[in-house]
Amino acid sequence: MVELGWSKGFIVRTPEHQLIFDPDSTNIPAKYSNIFISHAHADHFIGLKSKARKYSTPETRKIFESIYGKSVVNFNDIKFNQTIEIGNIKVMPLNAGHMLGSTQFLITLPDTSILYTGDINYLDTLTTRRAENVECDTLVMEATYGEPSYTFPDRENIYANIVQWTLNEIKKGLTPVFRSYTAGKAQELVKIFNVYTNLNVLTSNRISKVNKIYSESNIDLVYDEISSEIDRKSSVYIMSRSKELNSKKSARAIVMGWAIKMNSRKTAAFPLSSHADFNQLVKFVKDSKAKTVYNFTGFTDIFSNILRKRLGIKSRPLPPLAQKTLPYFN
Ligand SMILES: [Zn+2]
Repeated sequence: MVELGWSKGFIVRTPEHQLIFDPDSTNIPAKYSNIFISHAHADHFIGLKSKARKYSTPETRKIFESIYGKSVVNFNDIKFNQTIEIGNIKVMPLNAGHMLGSTQFLITLPDTSILYTGDINYLDTLTTRRAENVECDTLVMEATYGEPSYTFPDRENIYANIVQWTLNEIKKGLTPVFRSYTAGKAQELVKIFNVYTNLNVLTSNRISKVNKIYSESNIDLVYDEISSEIDRKSSVYIMSRSKELNSKKSARAIVMGWAIKMNSRKTAAFPLSSHADFNQLVKFVKDSKAKTVYNFTGFTDIFSNILRKRLGIKSRPLPPLAQKTLPYFN
């Protein structure tokens, strides 16, 4: 018998084992639990600080360690498409397309299969391949943009708009400054400017650390770390905190999916997202042929409703799971 649900993370529990995916707490019963981390964003990776046995791709671990300066202990490296066996549970890591090292997990038990997506992007970008889709009985998936108005323009158009805006601002004598998430989006921005322009790309210290891990993983990025000696002409700045550069002669921009609804005269906003948009999420569900879909993060109620009404799939937000006391596992 298997139980599923949310309890400090997504849990798959059998009488013998407890698997926790992306826990939001470090307070995990170390002896009986196995922790799986989908990717190196702060709302998913806190479990890497726990004492329990942990699994993630080496890229996820390295990005975490570079940002926090701490080594992960009691850790197992995993590779895409190589199964991990825990008793009679098989866990297969699959590419999630969200950032370097991002992983989905296909959990196979004797009588059922469950795909946990973590965060996914279901298209190719300059730095990631689109999420792999496999058939499963139950899909546990993110619904960040699970609302029909979150439909993004073609990625090539967004890239073109970002480049055009940047070159225009430089022509006006301003320094373009992008504020971006440290890991994932910032590296895609660096790559955009490397591929489509001859501009010097200057990144903050935190972003530069992650750039290095991308370059080590064969996603070559050309950039310099921001320093006072560097000539600011023909340069574009990418930083995770806007206060890092104080200049009256700068032009500000942000890149995120939510930008599709933003309207600011001071800051340019581009809807470049690392997440699947609404149409991609629906396509992902259809491709998986799942009979049941549980949603977490974002528009969970709206998206579950749409899946029930439009696709006739059993769907609801991921339900909570009662915590079991330790003797349960003995
Ligand atoms: Zn993420």
